Amino acid sequence: MADSVGYEDFGNMIRAAAAKVAAGHQELSRLDSVVGDGDHGTTMRRAMNLAVKSVDGCRAHDLMAVLSDVGWAILGVDGGATGPLLGTFFIGMAEATAGRQVLDAAGVAEAFEGAVAAVRKQTKAEVGDKTMIDALVPAVEALRAAAQAGQSVAGALAKAADAAERGAAATTDFRAKFGRARNLGDRSIGSPDPGATSVGLIFRGFAEAVAKK
Ligand code: ADP
Ligand code: MG
Repeated sequence: MADSVGYEDFGNMIRAAAAKVAAGHQELSRLDSVVGDGDHGTTMRRAMNLAVKSVDGCRAHDLMAVLSDVGWAILGVDGGATGPLLGTFFIGMAEATAGRQVLDAAGVAEAFEGAVAAVRKQTKAEVGDKTMIDALVPAVEALRAAAQAGQSVAGALAKAADAAERGAAATTDFRAKFGRARNLGDRSIGSPDPGATSVGLIFRGFAEAVAKK
């Protein structure tokens, strides 16, 4: 079997990510109630449910089309920062896969790099500012490094999920410089960023879906 992922796999990755977010939504809202307004789990669950609906309803059977549908669906979620940033992530990923249906580990890394580049156009947050960027950037760096080292798609995504979770955990010690948590100043230190925690769940879902393949 060729080591690659395509339309069906990305659908399964999004379903698995949504299941992780659904299982974790109470904890995500609890984290957001410490540093924000307590809605992150509900917003994420709604966003990922819409993503799954887009996967189930996609008629084009085309990788770029399904990722783009997912991105636009999430972009429409009301609820502050999550819709625009996470929606942009999938739209950026869609654009980076244009013209391709099957991605090897390097292709997956390229797709995710496109996703993060699109998010970074929407926010000036850098690694260390206690946002979802703290999980996204190391995850995609780990994905690229694993692809370059010749790892399988499943292996590279597992490395990315490890890095995302580590990045999210590291935000505990950071002071927030963006989003609602910024208003707390030093009081934002001591609890992990909810958005970064979501990114960890999403990447873990992606990795597990491909590992089962
Ligand atoms: P809101 O803060 O509008 O209620 P959510 O609670 O759904 O939205 O999401 C909060 C998460 O969004 C934060 O934990 C952080 O990771 C991310 N976030 C918020 N603002 C920004 C920003 N300007 N840049 C990057 N990420 C951000
Ligand atoms: Mg919130």
